[in-house]
Amino acid sequence: MFDDLYGELIIDHSKRPRNCRAMNDANHRADGHNTLCGDKLRLYIKLEDERVTDASFEGSGCAISTAAASLMTETLKGKTRAEALMLLETFHAVLTTDTPVRRDLGKLVVFCGVREYPARVKCATLAWHTLKSALATTIESTDLVAAEPYTPVLVTTE
Ligand code: ZN
Repeated sequence: MFDDLYGELIIDHSKRPRNCRAMNDANHRADGHNTLCGDKLRLYIKLEDERVTDASFEGSGCAISTAAASLMTETLKGKTRAEALMLLETFHAVLTTDTPVRRDLGKLVVFCGVREYPARVKCATLAWHTLKSALATTIESTDLVAAEPYTPVLVTTE
């Protein structure tokens, strides 16, 4: 089961997450929490002319949620807001329904095996749900400075 669930890419990204840092000049930000597993994450997006120029996250969670956030932030860079939301819809559909795996998911196909384990689907989609709320609100840089510091240290529990 673990071979199916934890592909090589997932293991790599959970152990060495990319873009795992706070971002001071983000103009979109949201916090996500998967109560089922205990995964927590804060997502930062920098959107310029409707295109993602930077994406990062901080948080603590299981291997799948960490790898999902890492691969998502990597994938988002360079995408327009519309492309990002379309990818979110596709990713969500593939993980929660029997939608055939789509090639336009790119590297994200590694999460397709997760749909066989419904309890883990929320781990894989947490970052994406958080992306949706981040894109729905714009923050001013002054809000960021005033925001409470986010402390969870990234700990992978599996
Ligand atoms: Zn989890």
